[in-house]
Amino acid sequence: MRTIALVGNPNSGKTTLFNALTGSNQHVGNWPGVTVEKKEGKLRFNDQLYNVVDLPGTYSLGAYSEDEIVARDFIIQGNPDVVINVVDATNIERNLYLTTQLLEMGTKIVIALNMMDEAKLKKIDINLNDLSKQLGIPIISTVASKRKGINELIEKAVDTINEDAPVNKISYGEEIHKEIEELKKLLEGRTEGYSSDWIAIKILEGDEEVINHVKGRNHVNERLIAIKDKSVDWELEIVNKRYDFINNIIEKSVKKPDETVVTLTDKIDKAVTNKYLGIPIFALIMYMIFQLTFVIGQDLLGGIVESWIESLAVIVSSFLYAVNSPDWLISFLIEGIIGGVGAVLVFVPLIMTLYFFLGILEDTGYMARAAYVMDGVMRALGLHGKTFISMIVGFGCNVPGIMATRTLENKKDRMIALLINPFMSCGARIPIYLVFIAAFFESNGGLVLFSLYLLGILIALIMGKLFSKTLFKGESSHFIMELPPYRLPSMRSVLRDMWDKVWDFLKRAGTVIFAVVTLLWILSRFPLGVVPYSQESILGKIGSIIAPIFAPAGFGTWQASVSLFAGIAAKEAVVAVLGMVYAGSSEGAALISAVQGAFTPLTAISFMVMTLLYTPCAATIATVKQETKSNKWAVFIAIYPFIIGWILSVIIYQIGSLLGF
Ligand code: GDP
Ligand code: MG
Repeated sequence: MRTIALVGNPNSGKTTLFNALTGSNQHVGNWPGVTVEKKEGKLRFNDQLYNVVDLPGTYSLGAYSEDEIVARDFIIQGNPDVVINVVDATNIERNLYLTTQLLEMGTKIVIALNMMDEAKLKKIDINLNDLSKQLGIPIISTVASKRKGINELIEKAVDTINEDAPVNKISYGEEIHKEIEELKKLLEGRTEGYSSDWIAIKILEGDEEVINHVKGRNHVNERLIAIKDKSVDWELEIVNKRYDFINNIIEKSVKKPDETVVTLTDKIDKAVTNKYLGIPIFALIMYMIFQLTFVIGQDLLGGIVESWIESLAVIVSSFLYAVNSPDWLISFLIEGIIGGVGAVLVFVPLIMTLYFFLGILEDTGYMARAAYVMDGVMRALGLHGKTFISMIVGFGCNVPGIMATRTLENKKDRMIALLINPFMSCGARIPIYLVFIAAFFESNGGLVLFSLYLLGILIALIMGKLFSKTLFKGESSHFIMELPPYRLPSMRSVLRDMWDKVWDFLKRAGTVIFAVVTLLWILSRFPLGVVPYSQESILGKIGSIIAPIFAPAGFGTWQASVSLFAGIAAKEAVVAVLGMVYAGSSEGAALISAVQGAFTPLTAISFMVMTLLYTPCAATIATVKQETKSNKWAVFIAIYPFIIGWILSVIIYQIGSLLGF
């Protein structure tokens, strides 16, 4: 099968294009660094199947950060038949820098000149024919978010597969050209399919990966020494020549309006990125989102799923009684599955609403501002500004949050960002808060949710500071967050992302949660003859062993202990288990009143804080292991948040009790 790779700067619209080409559901966001791992999909065109690969965005094809290496390695080793170079038309100069490197690599290229709608708004006038001729690369103009130009692009990409790669017309100057020729002579025929020009250029640029690859061959070493000895800054020289090439072309084929227009973006940014107002505005926006989530998700949509589940329980149980089913089956389906898994599903509307709003913040470009505003705080704490981006991603789920730390070039920055991510309150934890809010803090739901998220951020920042002072010393690299323009959110991609998260949630309910509930249901009936869900059951005994640990935090019951334990499989399991052991019935209200009986407002708070902070779920621990390639860090991430969560909930409970709550 032929392979088409999408390559381009961050935030140029690659993933939007990828989704349009393949009908996939990849996450799109109006900020850089959303895609960190390559994603593959299929495209059918003229009865032929093509493999399409979406790569992380890069400005250059060096070997600096991990996401950049993913892109570069794929172009070199994945050997795509054609590369679609996505170029942001509003920022051609910078985007074409990557194009010059693709030219050097000798790959077949089609340019998708994207964001043409915005370019038009900004009155940027681009002569496509001329630009294409000068670069020697075919260009198709597109508006990926509106699916404009997609068919032409596919057609052109497929045609290009059968053509020769474009000729690199960059003139590097006599000295560099001479050196390239020398190196090519030495490497003759031994470049394993890569363009020998590219290898030669990379050697001159001092690219260690390439140099290590060719070292020791046929006098290459002597040549390397000779190159170093000449008092030329080869790398700088080559970069300059690439820019000369670009500027020369732009001058001829792109016209920008003389006076720079003060756009609406500039005006809004003045306020929301203001030194003093920025953070309060961010907090206010988040607070409003949580309030709105409650109004819409709970009050308007909340009852829907709940009433479905209740009617389902009624139908299932009357059917089971009618056909004289055994008691254990009725109990399993009603208490275990509907009581457990159902307790989690009740919250789908609320979670959907929250992700809808967060998706809008992301797609308009506001989240990039939030990260920008937080940059100062992060730096003051010795953390890298990009850390905050991975933290925001962690609000969805800690697994992609941890993956997002790949955009951090510096190992130290990355490790810190990765280790504090689990404190970001992910979607799976929301059902837990919601049960306790419904039981004790009905009228302050938005505020409680907001405070928990805020607490998560605070703990993450404090731990980050601590790590940068202890485990990972050293300078943090500098970072200038690039602010994308504000965009009208594309409903298609906002809804798609929302659905993606909800679908993940549903899938977990149907797999992990289902499995946990089944296992615990069994444990609750053994040894044979015990009263189900009693302390004498195996489940009760396991819980009772753990319970004393949580006694100082105020929730030392076997039920709470078992639920926390099960929550390590997946956080939603906490609610599923509470639903089983406390309610075990079809009525949603039963869980709430059981929780009201078993907890007090104070222990509810300390329990919520514990669920926010304690050991992350198994998938998160596995991701930490995979990303750090170390068991040590996997064990660390399982243990230290538990300790932090325990200490904090004990403090809350003890002080609260002293104060008489
Ligand atoms: P990537 O980082 O290159 O993968 O970029 P994304 O596909 O995530 O898109 C970045 C942002 O640009 C998203 O908010 C998209 O909705 C938006 N976008 C993508 N293509 C276009 C386009 O042609 N015009 C406009 N106005 N917005 C676009
Ligand atoms: Mg992307």
